[in-house]
Amino acid sequence: MGENKKEAFRETTDILHHMGEHDLPFGAVSPPIFQSSIFSFKDFDAFQDALADEPSHFIYSRGNNPTVNLCEEKLAALEHGEAAKLVSSGVAAISTALFSCLKGGDHIIMVQDSYDWAQYIVRTYLSRYGIEHTFVEGKDIKDFEEAIRPNTRVIYLESPTSFTFKLQNLRQVASLAKTHGIKTIIDNTWATPLFQNPLDMGIDLVVHSATKYIGGNSDIVAGVIVGKRKEDIVHLFQMEFLPLGPTPDPFMAWLILRNLRTLHIRMPVHYDNALTIAKWLEGRNEVESVLYPMLPSYEQYELARKQMQGGSGLFSFRLKTRDVEKVKRFTNSLYYFKKAVSWGGYESLVFPAATHFKKGEPVPEDRVSLIRVHIGLEDKNTLIEDLEKAFKAMEE
Ligand SMILES: *Cc1c(COP(=O)(O)O)cnc(C)c1O
Repeated sequence: MGENKKEAFRETTDILHHMGEHDLPFGAVSPPIFQSSIFSFKDFDAFQDALADEPSHFIYSRGNNPTVNLCEEKLAALEHGEAAKLVSSGVAAISTALFSCLKGGDHIIMVQDSYDWAQYIVRTYLSRYGIEHTFVEGKDIKDFEEAIRPNTRVIYLESPTSFTFKLQNLRQVASLAKTHGIKTIIDNTWATPLFQNPLDMGIDLVVHSATKYIGGNSDIVAGVIVGKRKEDIVHLFQMEFLPLGPTPDPFMAWLILRNLRTLHIRMPVHYDNALTIAKWLEGRNEVESVLYPMLPSYEQYELARKQMQGGSGLFSFRLKTRDVEKVKRFTNSLYYFKKAVSWGGYESLVFPAATHFKKGEPVPEDRVSLIRVHIGLEDKNTLIEDLEKAFKAMEE
């Protein structure tokens, strides 16, 4: 085993299995859930000191909570950041991060295929407060160079994007942003902190939908913001988190703590299963193309290998057919792949892009053929047999 790999394993174990889990009350091994809305003080002075500095005290669980804070420490360490804030959902992480960096009159550049609710926040919400935006494809650094204005304050990335899997060159964008005094935020949900650490490449803030792999069991909705610098998270705690109230529940934080213990075991299995199935799909007659960044034939494969240590279980492929009825037959013939939104759990899912359109509404051809799958932790040969059966049914 190489020294780098050995160090990475040690780091993961220190964070996931040891950090903050020693000397628990009664010799407990699993950390307690502090299901308490308030925390009391021994006297007037202690009460006064706490109120003067809420970010570093337990006062009220809309601010800090010990179970939530332990979860934040681990997520910050995993992302190589100085601090993190856990919030009630991935979109709460996105909106809180955006609000903390923008004010009326500013301009934001956002990747055009980013998560649709992130786009909604920018197009519909921020524009109401006089914040301008430009959407760019983001595959070429020129896209960003040309979009920068004197009032640009934020560049918002998602690499890879989670339906079309387009990457941005994180080091290039971070260095361009720095020369213009622009903050960079990235949605790192797809790669997880195990396979991509954007803060090491110069990005300022990382957001995650912890609903996906960090939760990993399709049983919670949660989000996290990780900052390269603690001061950014303290600022966001005071200015957005306390007043807007995207408060995480202590039990939800505890479920994340529990599920994080297997992150390093789950991710390599998602990766191996997804890569095997992506390669198998590439060889199928019914398939036009496969959009998986870790596939050697993928157009941004070199960049993917440079920025990420692995791939997760989510990818799309394009069928040759443009017939919605065939896509329906394919979808309905799958047994192990559940028909559902979201991803990141133990189970495999299928999401045909055509389901986005209302019944009877014409579906653009490039949407008919686009199928997104999440490859779970099941036996990969069983999943391949399931797909094979569905392809047969589709052509009947
Ligand atoms: C699901 C998702 C989100 C939103 O997260 P929620 O937990 O559903 O609020 C944000 N970004 C990406 C890439 C996602 O897949």
